[in-house]
Amino acid sequence: MIEQPPRVIEELVEAASGDSDAAEKLADIANADPGRLTPHLDRLLDLDVLWPPTLYRAADTDLVRRVVVRVDGGETPGDLNHLLLVLAHSGHPLAEAAMRRWEAQPPAGAAELHVGPLAYAPEGGWTVSPDGSRRQLCGDTAYEWLMRDAPQRIDAPACPWCASPLWIAADVDTAEAAAGAALAHTGWSGRLVIETCHFCACYTTLYSQVTPEGGSTWWTGNTRPSYLGDDGEPEQPPTPLPIIGPARQSPFQASAWNSGGSTLGGRPEWIQDAEHPGCPGCGQVMDYVGLLGGRDLDEFGEGAYYLHLHRPCAFAAVNYQQS
Ligand SMILES: [Zn+2]
Ligand SMILES: [Zn+2]
Repeated sequence: MIEQPPRVIEELVEAASGDSDAAEKLADIANADPGRLTPHLDRLLDLDVLWPPTLYRAADTDLVRRVVVRVDGGETPGDLNHLLLVLAHSGHPLAEAAMRRWEAQPPAGAAELHVGPLAYAPEGGWTVSPDGSRRQLCGDTAYEWLMRDAPQRIDAPACPWCASPLWIAADVDTAEAAAGAALAHTGWSGRLVIETCHFCACYTTLYSQVTPEGGSTWWTGNTRPSYLGDDGEPEQPPTPLPIIGPARQSPFQASAWNSGGSTLGGRPEWIQDAEHPGCPGCGQVMDYVGLLGGRDLDEFGEGAYYLHLHRPCAFAAVNYQQS
């Protein structure tokens, strides 16, 4: 990406409230190097540019305090959803403290929300555990996931629901330094193979039980959605096998839309709301592993597969979103 001089950023900031292209260019900067926007966030907030909230990833203490004061003041209850997203993406300790406080004392506008203030945290890649401690769900290091053509597997087990051969969505080993860095936040050590059904994962979160030797077994507790028919023909899964490519400049450059957006580690780009699954073993939110873009798996592919892991329980999960 070409480095934008500060004057160009200033022009984009001034244009962003009425020009979605300008906001998108700022979002690209926030993805590549969030800190470059930090000096401009006061002005963006003055201009009421709250979307996309990822612009505020590198918000400093003063900026976060301004947002908290604005929520506490209650003058713009209709903006509460966007303001909570801004705070979630900032991940700032002041934002966390305010969100915890609002959980017990809801601010103006909270009655219109579908979830409590703390439930916004996963949008920013973190959560509060049952013991009250904060937990990062995503890694700080990310790598391009490149597709290498592989022959059709002949020994693949069949999906118990649709009979399609199961698909190897990931095969990485922390013995490789890049995989070790991308999975560091999960605590995983060893080979991680995530085998799932590329077809049924589009309809519900599919879990598998994994071992550090590279074992991956369909979880018998997976619950088939009633709307998933059983009259379809088995489909061959995508053949490309993701291999680890160069490191990304930042953890925020996965793309669920663009070809070349598949990424191991870092943060997901969600198409819908953040959807970090709960672990079937313990009920806690699972750690995020990586994203495979439909575009990278198939010329006509769409949507994105999201991979997750909970190391203490040795469960992996795959879910899918599309527009
Ligand atoms: Zn299936
Ligand atoms: Zn668990």
